[in-house]
Amino acid sequence: MKRIAVLTSGGDAPGMNAAIRAVVRGGLEQGWEVFGVRQGYAGLMGGDFVSLSARDVGGIIQQGGTVLGSARAPEFKTEEGRKQALANLEARGVEALVVIGGGGSQSGAYALSRMGFPVVGVASTIDNDLYGSETTIGVDTALNIALEAIDRLKVTASSHHRAFLVEVMGRDCGYLALMAGIAGGAEVIVLPEVESDPEEVIETLKAAYRRGKAHAIAVVAEGATNNANELMLYAQENQKRIGFDLRVTILGHVQRGGMPGAFDRLLATRLGVGAVERLAGGEHGVLMGLIRGEILATPLDEAAGRKKPLDLGLLEMARVLAK
Ligand code: ATP
Repeated sequence: MKRIAVLTSGGDAPGMNAAIRAVVRGGLEQGWEVFGVRQGYAGLMGGDFVSLSARDVGGIIQQGGTVLGSARAPEFKTEEGRKQALANLEARGVEALVVIGGGGSQSGAYALSRMGFPVVGVASTIDNDLYGSETTIGVDTALNIALEAIDRLKVTASSHHRAFLVEVMGRDCGYLALMAGIAGGAEVIVLPEVESDPEEVIETLKAAYRRGKAHAIAVVAEGATNNANELMLYAQENQKRIGFDLRVTILGHVQRGGMPGAFDRLLATRLGVGAVERLAGGEHGVLMGLIRGEILATPLDEAAGRKKPLDLGLLEMARVLAK
């Protein structure tokens, strides 16, 4: 093999740059030329390629986001779009592609590999919903950012008689909310995976004060039916009866923008190097992930389109510990 390409796709995640760096430098070590594709699958279809040297990926390991840019590119879901991408890869003599991204991106990687092109995926999404990796690039950093916010809100919540509601990212998956809620000692956790009742959320917060707690915090996932906006509306409509102020903080994209911590830099580096090693060994059509502490490959036909279920037993544990 002489040439490979690497791209980042879907939502950006802290640590993606460390993975790009590992793929580029690992590939150069093999004697390959490595192209970076800008803006994910959009750049693949548009022919936005740039040859990367070891120096080009210097100074990025500590940066959040992705220096290659990322995009959502619905046209890649069409065969026509993917044919255009293949033509661009072939025109540059690129023989394999590394796709750093989440569930949707790995479905795209699988679609391309089914058309006969060698692809290796790298598990990267702050949602941590990807089958084939116990944890994915960006999760640890995003979680720590959410925790810092929760810890700070607890301080101010203790000083006033106020309950706080923190909304964290997670459209369909409540992993971040669940883990941030447990590690942050939240009184209530609201997830997209579990039905919730606004009155019950308010009651649980009230009960925390009745038990003599200095604070009451609810952590909710953005994709929950009762997300921050819904709960705030409910609290406003019933303010007199509820008897306390509910303050809402929506963390939103703040969670994505952090500098990757040690865990994500190391994970991303190992996954990126793992992807290159598999390609060098002639293996492709796989997703690189962390399984029981090891960097292992799962076939894309097993991993793509499959979500890792949330351990809902932990929600009960969180409820018990919020005494
Ligand atoms: P995250 O969940 O962290 O935001 P993601 O990779 O799941 O990341 P998506 O927006 O779901 O993000 O997907 C990114 C891109 O992958 C899409 O814009 C599209 O170009 C491509 N893609 C998604 N699903 C498919 C599919 N079934 N076939 C081909 N391409 C796909």
